[in-house]
Amino acid sequence: MAKVTVVGSGNVGATTALYIAEKRIADVVLVDIMDGLAHGRALDSIQAAPLRHYDTQIVGAEDFSLMKDSDVVVVTAGKARTPGMSRDDLLQINAKIISAVSAEIARYAPNAVLVMVSNPLDVMAYVALKVTGFALKRVVGMAGVLDSTRFRYFLARELNVYVGDTTALVLGGHGDSMVPLPRYATVNGVPITELLSKDTIEQLVERTRKGGAEIVSYLKTGSAYWAPAAAVTEMVECIVRDKMRILPCSAYLRGQYGIEGLFVGVPVKLGKNGVEEIIELTLSKEESEALIASASAVKGIIEKLEEMRLI
Ligand code: NAD
Repeated sequence: MAKVTVVGSGNVGATTALYIAEKRIADVVLVDIMDGLAHGRALDSIQAAPLRHYDTQIVGAEDFSLMKDSDVVVVTAGKARTPGMSRDDLLQINAKIISAVSAEIARYAPNAVLVMVSNPLDVMAYVALKVTGFALKRVVGMAGVLDSTRFRYFLARELNVYVGDTTALVLGGHGDSMVPLPRYATVNGVPITELLSKDTIEQLVERTRKGGAEIVSYLKTGSAYWAPAAAVTEMVECIVRDKMRILPCSAYLRGQYGIEGLFVGVPVKLGKNGVEEIIELTLSKEESEALIASASAVKGIIEKLEEMRLI
């Protein structure tokens, strides 16, 4: 059985651990620095196993050494947004946490694929890459799968069609500048541009962009976690089972799409080594400009981190 460590046993981490175990993808180690939290969450989840019919393990630990030899390490450690906070407000707090966690990953799981979840996502993936020194393909960020599933849900509701028949592709940085691509969205192959007016598509795109903030405004004390955990699980399954699916993920670009040295959301082929291939689509001028603008937003945050000497 494969081994997956989830660092951070808060809302996203604990839910991800449960989904991974329930789908029998891997045995899971759940780690958190808060005394007892990972143990408690692990024990609670595993006691559902007889009823939910899974025989994979979930163990909790404060001790990072338990992640030893993990095939995949998912990083959800850090603070989540509360109302009025942008993902970038989390920058300083989470950069320090992610640096510390990444050093532990390099020490105990040097051959793992690292899936970053903590925000600001594309920048935290960059921090993890720098601190671990991992090969570029072994660090990947989760954002596009979540943003795309939100878009798919909104499309299905609008069109009154089966949600499983929808496909969508959201590129760019995981922030307000993300780039949903309506011409790549379909219902079982039928382009949504044939089914919906331009105005309606624009409204759904806008709701997708603000999908995270909409949930934060209701929850007030934290941010979304059911759909994010489902998105992480989709990626982890793809890596553990070497499924080679094409999914929108945050990957380190070296000139693709005209972007150099940054993590930005693009379609990638995801397999057992992480980012097996970056798929370079031909974008329209408008789409390309939106992607470059989104990448500059990511670059701006990295520059802030450099000014603060946090990287
Ligand atoms: P949460 O507050 O519920 O959980 C975070 C956990 O991290 C806490 O239990 C905390 O004790 C732990 N932690 C802090 N420092 C740690 C360290 N050094 N080592 C180990 N654990 C540590 O938050 P959440 O809702 O689970 O969100 C987690 C992160 O994921 C946030 O940064 C959030 O913004 C991000 N997120 C990203 C996406 C995405 O699409 N990429 C979606 C949802 C949430």
